[in-house]
Amino acid sequence: MAVLFGSHPIFADHDSGTHHPERSERLKAVARGMEAVSDVVELLRYTPGPAPMEALVRVHDSEYLESLKRFCLMGGGELDPDTAVSIQSWDAAVVAAGAGLDAADRLRAGEADSAFVAVRPPGHHAVSGSAMGFCLINNVAVLAADLSQRGEKVLILDFDAHHGNGTQDIFIEDPSVLYVSTHQFPLFPGSGRVQEVGSGVGFGMTVNIPLPERTTGPTLRYALDQIARPTIEGFGPTWLLMSAGFDAHYRDPLTEMGLSSGDFGQIVRWAMEFVPKQRSIAMLEGGYDLSALRDSTSALLSALEGQKFAPEEPGTDKPEFDLVNAMAEVRFRALGVHGDGTSR
Ligand SMILES: [Zn+2]
Repeated sequence: MAVLFGSHPIFADHDSGTHHPERSERLKAVARGMEAVSDVVELLRYTPGPAPMEALVRVHDSEYLESLKRFCLMGGGELDPDTAVSIQSWDAAVVAAGAGLDAADRLRAGEADSAFVAVRPPGHHAVSGSAMGFCLINNVAVLAADLSQRGEKVLILDFDAHHGNGTQDIFIEDPSVLYVSTHQFPLFPGSGRVQEVGSGVGFGMTVNIPLPERTTGPTLRYALDQIARPTIEGFGPTWLLMSAGFDAHYRDPLTEMGLSSGDFGQIVRWAMEFVPKQRSIAMLEGGYDLSALRDSTSALLSALEGQKFAPEEPGTDKPEFDLVNAMAEVRFRALGVHGDGTSR
Protein backbone atom coordinates (compact mmCIF):
# COMPACT_ATOMS: atom_id res chain seq x y z
CA MET A 1 0.00 0.00 0.00
CA ALA A 2 1.02 3.59 -0.55
CA VAL A 3 3.18 5.97 1.44
CA LEU A 4 1.70 9.44 1.97
CA PHE A 5 4.01 12.29 1.06
CA GLY A 6 2.91 15.66 2.43
CA SER A 7 4.52 18.95 1.47
CA HIS A 8 3.48 22.52 0.59
CA PRO A 9 4.98 25.35 -1.53
CA ILE A 10 4.74 27.72 1.46
CA PHE A 11 7.56 25.79 3.17
CA ALA A 12 10.00 27.29 0.62
CA ASP A 13 8.87 30.82 1.58
CA HIS A 14 10.16 30.54 5.15
CA ASP A 15 13.40 32.52 4.76
CA SER A 16 15.84 31.76 7.58
CA GLY A 17 18.48 34.22 6.35
CA THR A 18 21.44 34.34 3.95
CA HIS A 19 23.78 31.30 4.06
CA HIS A 20 21.63 29.60 6.71
CA PRO A 21 22.00 25.78 6.67
CA GLU A 22 18.24 25.30 7.20
CA ARG A 23 17.37 26.58 3.71
CA SER A 24 14.64 25.98 1.16
CA GLU A 25 16.99 23.97 -1.13
CA ARG A 26 16.68 21.20 1.44
CA LEU A 27 13.16 20.46 0.22
CA LYS A 28 14.38 20.26 -3.38
CA ALA A 29 16.85 17.61 -2.21
CA VAL A 30 14.00 15.75 -0.50
CA ALA A 31 12.02 15.94 -3.77
CA ARG A 32 14.98 14.44 -5.66
CA GLY A 33 15.12 11.61 -3.12
CA MET A 34 11.41 11.03 -3.63
CA GLU A 35 11.77 10.98 -7.45
CA ALA A 36 14.57 8.44 -7.14
CA VAL A 37 12.21 5.87 -5.59
CA SER A 38 8.99 6.85 -7.38
CA ASP A 39 9.25 3.70 -9.56
CA VAL A 40 9.58 1.33 -6.61
CA VAL A 41 7.52 3.03 -3.87
CA GLU A 42 3.84 3.82 -4.38
CA LEU A 43 3.54 7.44 -3.29
CA LEU A 44 0.36 9.34 -2.55
CA ARG A 45 1.10 13.06 -2.50
CA TYR A 46 -1.07 15.50 -0.61
CA THR A 47 -1.03 19.21 0.21
CA PRO A 48 -1.67 19.87 3.90
CA GLY A 49 -3.64 22.73 5.41
CA PRO A 50 -2.85 24.86 8.48
CA ALA A 51 -3.13 23.45 12.00
CA PRO A 52 -6.06 24.89 13.98
CA MET A 53 -5.10 27.17 16.86
CA GLU A 54 -6.60 24.77 19.42
CA ALA A 55 -4.07 22.13 18.34
CA LEU A 56 -1.16 24.58 18.70
CA VAL A 57 -2.12 25.79 22.18
CA ARG A 58 -2.01 22.22 23.51
CA VAL A 59 1.79 22.47 23.37
CA HIS A 60 2.58 26.21 23.10
CA ASP A 61 1.72 29.25 25.23
CA SER A 62 -0.81 31.41 23.41
CA GLU A 63 1.24 34.52 24.27
CA TYR A 64 4.25 33.02 22.50
CA LEU A 65 2.18 32.11 19.42
CA GLU A 66 0.68 35.61 19.25
CA SER A 67 4.07 37.30 19.55
CA LEU A 68 5.63 34.97 16.95
CA LYS A 69 2.79 35.68 14.52
CA ARG A 70 3.08 39.44 15.07
CA PHE A 71 6.88 39.39 14.70
CA CYS A 72 6.64 37.51 11.37
CA LEU A 73 3.82 39.66 9.97
CA MET A 74 5.78 42.81 10.81
CA GLY A 75 8.55 41.59 8.52
CA GLY A 76 10.49 39.15 10.72
CA GLY A 77 14.14 39.20 11.70
CA GLU A 78 16.27 37.30 14.23
CA LEU A 79 14.51 35.58 17.13
CA ASP A 80 17.87 34.37 18.45
CA PRO A 81 21.35 34.05 16.89
CA ASP A 82 20.37 30.72 15.23
CA THR A 83 16.76 31.38 14.35
CA ALA A 84 15.48 34.02 11.95
CA VAL A 85 12.05 34.43 10.36
CA SER A 86 10.52 36.20 7.37
CA ILE A 87 7.01 37.51 6.73
CA GLN A 88 5.80 34.09 5.48
CA SER A 89 7.37 32.07 8.32
CA TRP A 90 4.25 32.11 10.50
CA ASP A 91 2.08 30.65 7.73
CA ALA A 92 4.77 28.09 6.88
CA ALA A 93 5.10 27.00 10.51
CA VAL A 94 1.35 26.61 10.98
CA VAL A 95 1.06 24.48 7.83
CA ALA A 96 4.11 22.43 8.92
CA ALA A 97 2.26 21.61 12.14
CA GLY A 98 -0.95 20.94 10.18
CA ALA A 99 0.84 18.50 7.87
CA GLY A 100 1.18 15.94 10.64
CA LEU A 101 -2.45 16.28 11.72
CA ASP A 102 -3.56 15.81 8.09
CA ALA A 103 -1.35 12.76 7.71
CA ALA A 104 -2.90 11.14 10.80
CA ASP A 105 -6.42 11.87 9.48
CA ARG A 106 -5.54 10.24 6.16
CA LEU A 107 -3.99 7.17 7.80
CA ARG A 108 -7.08 6.77 10.02
CA ALA A 109 -9.19 6.92 6.84
CA GLY A 110 -7.11 4.06 5.38
CA GLU A 111 -5.67 6.05 2.47
CA ALA A 112 -2.15 4.71 2.95
CA ASP A 113 0.13 2.58 5.15
CA SER A 114 2.48 5.24 6.49
CA ALA A 115 3.46 8.85 5.90
CA PHE A 116 6.38 11.23 5.46
CA VAL A 117 5.76 14.93 5.91
CA ALA A 118 8.54 17.01 4.37
CA VAL A 119 8.19 20.25 6.28
CA ARG A 120 10.12 23.34 7.22
CA PRO A 121 10.65 25.03 9.53
CA PRO A 122 11.57 22.00 11.67
CA GLY A 123 10.17 21.65 15.19
CA HIS A 124 11.89 19.53 17.83
CA HIS A 125 13.86 22.30 19.58
CA ALA A 126 10.84 24.61 20.00
CA VAL A 127 9.67 24.71 23.64
CA SER A 128 6.27 25.77 24.97
CA GLY A 129 7.13 29.44 25.26
CA SER A 130 9.89 30.00 22.73
CA ALA A 131 11.43 29.30 19.34
CA MET A 132 14.88 27.72 19.38
CA GLY A 133 17.49 26.17 17.08
CA PHE A 134 15.81 26.85 13.68
CA CYS A 135 12.44 25.66 15.13
CA LEU A 136 9.29 27.78 15.61
CA ILE A 137 6.39 25.41 16.34
CA ASN A 138 7.04 21.89 17.63
CA ASN A 139 5.40 19.97 14.79
CA VAL A 140 5.82 16.46 16.21
CA ALA A 141 4.58 17.61 19.63
CA VAL A 142 1.43 19.15 18.13
CA LEU A 143 0.59 15.82 16.50
CA ALA A 144 1.52 13.74 19.57
CA ALA A 145 -0.69 15.93 21.81
CA ASP A 146 -3.60 15.57 19.39
CA LEU A 147 -3.23 11.77 19.35
CA SER A 148 -2.85 11.65 23.13
CA GLN A 149 -6.09 13.63 23.47
CA ARG A 150 -7.79 10.89 21.40
CA GLY A 151 -6.61 8.27 23.93
CA GLU A 152 -3.67 7.00 21.87
CA LYS A 153 -0.28 5.92 23.25
CA VAL A 154 2.37 7.70 21.23
CA LEU A 155 5.98 6.66 20.68
CA ILE A 156 8.17 9.50 19.40
CA LEU A 157 11.48 8.26 18.01
CA ASP A 158 13.81 11.23 17.41
CA PHE A 159 16.89 10.14 15.45
CA ASP A 160 18.01 13.67 14.52
CA ALA A 161 21.67 14.17 15.53
CA HIS A 162 20.58 16.87 17.98
CA HIS A 163 18.59 16.17 21.13
CA GLY A 164 14.94 17.21 20.81
CA ASN A 165 14.90 19.28 23.98
CA GLY A 166 11.58 20.93 23.12
CA THR A 167 9.75 17.65 22.61
CA GLN A 168 11.26 16.17 25.78
CA ASP A 169 10.26 19.25 27.79
CA ILE A 170 6.68 19.31 26.54
CA PHE A 171 6.03 15.66 27.45
CA ILE A 172 8.39 15.29 30.43
CA GLU A 173 5.47 14.57 32.80
CA ASP A 174 3.14 12.92 30.27
CA PRO A 175 2.67 9.14 30.59
CA SER A 176 0.82 8.92 27.24
CA VAL A 177 3.86 9.96 25.17
CA LEU A 178 7.11 7.97 25.22
CA TYR A 179 10.01 10.07 23.94
CA VAL A 180 13.09 8.19 22.68
CA SER A 181 16.06 10.13 21.33
CA THR A 182 19.38 9.08 19.81
CA HIS A 183 21.75 12.01 19.41
CA GLN A 184 25.36 13.11 19.32
CA PHE A 185 26.59 14.19 22.74
CA PRO A 186 27.87 16.65 23.68
CA LEU A 187 26.28 18.87 21.03
CA PHE A 188 23.65 21.62 20.78
CA PRO A 189 21.35 22.03 22.72
CA GLY A 190 23.29 20.31 25.55
CA SER A 191 20.41 18.26 27.00
CA GLY A 192 19.72 14.55 26.50
CA ARG A 193 21.76 12.81 29.18
CA VAL A 194 20.88 9.19 29.99
CA GLN A 195 19.81 10.29 33.48
CA GLU A 196 16.98 12.43 32.02
CA VAL A 197 14.22 9.80 32.24
CA GLY A 198 11.06 11.88 32.76
CA SER A 199 9.41 13.08 35.94
CA GLY A 200 6.16 12.89 37.91
CA VAL A 201 3.69 10.49 36.29
CA GLY A 202 5.94 10.58 33.22
CA PHE A 203 8.87 9.05 35.13
CA GLY A 204 10.59 6.49 32.92
CA MET A 205 8.82 7.75 29.77
CA THR A 206 11.87 9.58 28.42
CA VAL A 207 14.69 7.51 26.94
CA ASN A 208 17.91 9.29 26.03
CA ILE A 209 20.73 7.63 24.09
CA PRO A 210 23.61 10.13 23.87
CA LEU A 211 26.31 8.92 21.49
CA PRO A 212 29.89 10.02 20.81
CA GLU A 213 31.19 11.46 17.53
CA ARG A 214 31.54 9.03 14.62
CA THR A 215 29.00 6.57 16.05
CA THR A 216 27.83 4.27 13.25
CA GLY A 217 24.55 2.48 12.57
CA PRO A 218 25.33 -0.87 14.26
CA THR A 219 26.09 0.79 17.61
CA LEU A 220 23.04 3.04 17.39
CA ARG A 221 20.75 0.11 16.59
CA TYR A 222 22.26 -2.02 19.35
CA ALA A 223 21.65 0.86 21.76
CA LEU A 224 18.03 1.16 20.67
CA ASP A 225 17.57 -2.58 21.23
CA GLN A 226 19.28 -2.68 24.63
CA ILE A 227 18.06 0.59 26.10
CA ALA A 228 14.82 1.61 24.37
CA ARG A 229 13.20 -1.70 23.43
CA PRO A 230 12.23 -2.82 26.98
CA THR A 231 10.51 0.50 27.70
CA ILE A 232 8.77 0.58 24.30
CA GLU A 233 7.48 -2.98 24.70
CA GLY A 234 6.26 -2.24 28.23
CA PHE A 235 4.46 0.86 26.95
CA GLY A 236 2.76 -0.76 23.94
CA PRO A 237 2.47 2.28 21.63
CA THR A 238 -0.50 2.65 19.28
CA TRP A 239 1.20 5.29 17.09
CA LEU A 240 4.78 5.89 15.97
CA LEU A 241 5.93 9.42 15.19
CA MET A 242 9.48 9.88 13.97
CA SER A 243 11.40 13.13 14.30
CA ALA A 244 13.27 12.28 11.12
CA GLY A 245 16.38 14.42 11.08
CA PHE A 246 19.11 13.24 8.73
CA ASP A 247 21.99 15.25 10.20
CA ALA A 248 23.43 12.08 11.79
CA HIS A 249 24.54 11.18 8.23
CA TYR A 250 28.34 11.00 7.93
CA ARG A 251 28.35 13.77 5.28
CA ASP A 252 26.44 16.30 7.39
CA PRO A 253 28.37 19.56 7.86
CA LEU A 254 26.87 20.43 11.28
CA THR A 255 27.56 17.20 13.19
CA GLU A 256 30.13 14.40 13.43
CA MET A 257 27.99 11.26 13.46
CA GLY A 258 28.67 8.30 11.15
CA LEU A 259 25.35 6.99 9.80
CA SER A 260 24.57 6.14 6.16
CA SER A 261 21.22 6.44 4.41
CA GLY A 262 20.88 2.66 4.71
CA ASP A 263 21.17 2.96 8.48
CA PHE A 264 18.21 5.35 8.55
CA GLY A 265 16.17 2.79 6.61
CA GLN A 266 17.00 0.08 9.16
CA ILE A 267 16.08 2.33 12.11
CA VAL A 268 12.70 3.13 10.53
CA ARG A 269 11.89 -0.54 9.87
CA TRP A 270 12.94 -1.42 13.45
CA ALA A 271 10.62 1.21 14.92
CA MET A 272 7.61 0.36 12.77
CA GLU A 273 7.45 -3.14 14.27
CA PHE A 274 6.19 -1.73 17.57
CA VAL A 275 2.94 -0.25 16.21
CA PRO A 276 -0.04 -1.47 14.18
CA LYS A 277 -0.14 -0.95 10.41
CA GLN A 278 -1.19 2.51 9.20
CA ARG A 279 0.08 4.19 12.36
CA SER A 280 3.57 5.43 11.41
CA ILE A 281 4.41 9.02 10.48
CA ALA A 282 7.88 10.49 9.86
CA MET A 283 8.32 14.27 10.08
CA LEU A 284 11.37 16.03 8.67
CA GLU A 285 13.63 17.75 11.20
CA GLY A 286 17.31 18.50 10.37
CA GLY A 287 19.74 17.30 7.70
CA TYR A 288 22.00 19.85 6.01
CA ASP A 289 24.04 18.03 3.36
CA LEU A 290 21.81 18.06 0.30
CA SER A 291 23.00 14.78 -1.25
CA ALA A 292 22.74 13.03 2.14
CA LEU A 293 19.24 14.41 2.52
CA ARG A 294 18.29 13.14 -0.95
CA ASP A 295 19.67 9.63 -0.28
CA SER A 296 18.18 9.45 3.21
CA THR A 297 14.76 10.46 1.87
CA SER A 298 14.93 7.58 -0.62
CA ALA A 299 15.88 5.16 2.16
CA LEU A 300 13.15 6.47 4.47
CA LEU A 301 10.38 6.23 1.87
CA SER A 302 11.30 2.69 0.90
CA ALA A 303 11.53 1.68 4.58
CA LEU A 304 8.09 3.19 5.22
CA GLU A 305 6.79 0.78 2.58
CA GLY A 306 8.66 -2.10 4.23
CA GLN A 307 11.37 -2.29 1.56
CA LYS A 308 15.13 -2.36 2.00
CA PHE A 309 16.17 -0.13 -0.92
CA ALA A 310 18.78 2.48 0.02
CA PRO A 311 21.40 4.32 -2.04
CA GLU A 312 24.03 3.26 0.55
CA GLU A 313 24.43 0.07 2.56
CA PRO A 314 23.85 0.15 6.33
CA GLY A 315 27.01 0.00 8.45
CA THR A 316 28.38 -3.49 9.21
CA ASP A 317 31.07 -2.75 11.79
CA LYS A 318 30.96 -4.29 15.27
CA PRO A 319 28.75 -2.40 17.76
CA GLU A 320 30.43 -0.68 20.73
CA PHE A 321 29.02 -3.22 23.18
CA ASP A 322 30.81 -1.87 26.28
CA LEU A 323 29.67 1.70 25.68
CA VAL A 324 26.03 0.68 25.20
CA ASN A 325 25.96 -1.75 28.13
CA ALA A 326 27.39 0.93 30.44
CA MET A 327 24.73 3.36 29.20
CA ALA A 328 21.98 0.79 29.86
CA GLU A 329 23.29 0.36 33.41
CA VAL A 330 23.12 4.13 34.00
CA ARG A 331 19.51 4.17 32.82
CA PHE A 332 18.54 1.22 35.02
CA ARG A 333 20.16 2.96 37.99
CA ALA A 334 18.30 6.22 37.26
CA LEU A 335 15.06 4.24 37.18
CA GLY A 336 15.92 2.47 40.44
CA VAL A 337 15.89 -0.91 38.73
CA HIS A 338 18.53 -3.63 38.69
CA GLY A 339 19.82 -4.95 35.38
CA ASP A 340 17.64 -8.03 35.88
CA GLY A 341 14.50 -5.84 36.00
CA THR A 342 13.80 -6.00 39.75
CA SER A 343 13.29 -2.83 41.82
CA ARG A 344 15.71 -1.79 44.49
ZN1 LIG B 1 19.53 18.34 14.08
